[in-house]
Amino acid sequence: MSEAVESLNFIEHIVEDDLKNGYSKKELRFRFPPEPNGYLHIGHASSICLNFGLGLRYDAPVNLRFDDTNPAKEEQEYVDAIKKDVEWLGFKWDTERYASDYFQQLYDWAIELIKQGKAYVDEQSSEQMAEQKGTPTQAGTNSPFRDRSVDENLAIFQKMKDGEFQEGTHVLRAKIDMASSNMLMRDPIMYRVLHKAHHRTNTDWCIYPMYDWTHGESDYIEQVSHSFCTLEFAMHRELYDWFLDQVTDANKLRPKQREFARRNLSHTVVSKRKLLQLVEQNVVTGWDDPRMSTLSGLRRRGYTPESIRNFVETIGIAKRDNLIDVSLLEFHLRDHLNKISPRVMGVLDPVKVVITNYPEGEVEWLQTENNPEDASAGKREVPFSREIYIEKEDFREEANRKFFRLKLGGEVRLKSGFIIKAESCTKDTDGNIIEIQCTYDPKSKSGSGTEESLRKVKGTLHWVSVAHALKAEVRLYDRLFTDESPDTHKDKDFMEFINPNSLKVITGYLEPSLATAKSGDRFQFQRLGYFCVDPDSKEGKLVFNKTVGLRDTWAKVQNK
Ligand code: ATP
Ligand code: MG
Repeated sequence: MSEAVESLNFIEHIVEDDLKNGYSKKELRFRFPPEPNGYLHIGHASSICLNFGLGLRYDAPVNLRFDDTNPAKEEQEYVDAIKKDVEWLGFKWDTERYASDYFQQLYDWAIELIKQGKAYVDEQSSEQMAEQKGTPTQAGTNSPFRDRSVDENLAIFQKMKDGEFQEGTHVLRAKIDMASSNMLMRDPIMYRVLHKAHHRTNTDWCIYPMYDWTHGESDYIEQVSHSFCTLEFAMHRELYDWFLDQVTDANKLRPKQREFARRNLSHTVVSKRKLLQLVEQNVVTGWDDPRMSTLSGLRRRGYTPESIRNFVETIGIAKRDNLIDVSLLEFHLRDHLNKISPRVMGVLDPVKVVITNYPEGEVEWLQTENNPEDASAGKREVPFSREIYIEKEDFREEANRKFFRLKLGGEVRLKSGFIIKAESCTKDTDGNIIEIQCTYDPKSKSGSGTEESLRKVKGTLHWVSVAHALKAEVRLYDRLFTDESPDTHKDKDFMEFINPNSLKVITGYLEPSLATAKSGDRFQFQRLGYFCVDPDSKEGKLVFNKTVGLRDTWAKVQNK
């Protein structure tokens, strides 16, 4: 596609227009600015792909900036997890930055603002200040502290910094306009007192800058050309610009804030605060629980970075918030896993089949391909013997013509093996089928003749040899929430929609080649879905997560 006809999203148009109107390509610089107060989620993937994608498109640097202005909620653990996730998604940042590295510069600028009469220390309670804030249609009222002298402000601000005041007693406010139609411009708070140790600056500071005061100035310090954030910051843009006006040097680049829509995924929540609640209340086992919408959860579930990037690319960048169905994410996951996953056989709900005309004690190894989508994946061998497992639901005593699986008197092919015929079955006292007796056709072995010379039967089943089966713990997942948009109900908390059956743990019987599978390895269990090895696996105890089911369970499996 030539550049001219390539369709650009509106964010790329903004950058293109700026390039046409005088920005040089060399000036472009972007950033991804997470607050380290939780693990990244699938919504963040949109922001990461947007910012780092722009970096790749324009060959421009992208900073990873931690917006760490709130020591009460931020931790090093989150910093480490965020770095791991961004790298896992496949992106490289130019420099790693921290808003906390700018605390001194921000403080110096705040002093300048005080000296210019543009900031003051307020000693009212937060309730009093809230009362004076007014409403969107009604102007606010000035604080009684608004007009204290520069010297007095400097002296009290110094005491704030020196830790002489308790939390909640003093704040530094920008002196803008208590009658502004934009409530955020009504003397916003720049600093508050917090006697909390910070994960990087430790106890150096007991006043901390607010997000609005920090963000734009950090962009400016880093000379970020475009600061893209989500729509809830649209109203903050006026304040972002006001704060920049106070410090920007005409010879330097002035960052530009623009907004795009937050991405929401169905049947989950994408908010660190809510995800933290799920962790803290033990609804899940941790931030990386495979049911979580976090990148670490998706990774553990078996998602590939490619599938997430493709999903993000498909949903694009929007100007309005909307809900994306999780099935679209799963579509991209299957699409990628189909190409890369080795095929293996495992039986998750077994019933024993005895092949009565197969010699007892004999084992033969049958060749089977690792991935029909990828010839380079090669072949492997699976053991066949007199006793095998098949899925319970693949057998019925009686069934109509459309049931292409095994029924009494009927034939099926065992994947990469022989054709078997069900002759009889044994039941327990409750009437459950506990064993099926079959005969096999020794001349029907897969690959033993030409495609034409081989007898064909309609159905093909996966199976494992009983004597060789590896037992594994298999964790099956369902949606974590029963509602497609659990956190948008006015009268109900999102926690009320937790799906009580989102995890089911069973024992699976797997082909022996999986004995060497390692944590993170992904497979297609034929006819069942995609599975990956969980990090809980230990020597001698395999644990698998079901990543996602196959759309088409068995009709497509070739008669091989
Ligand atoms: P959360 O509510 O989960 O804490 P946040 O916006 O407070 O989200 P930040 O760590 O501040 O989280 O986000 C870093 C960047 O990612 C910001 O630019 C933010 O706008 C963007 N972002 C966060 N959530 C989403 C989302 N759901 N869709 C798109 N971008 C998002
Ligand atoms: Mg936040």
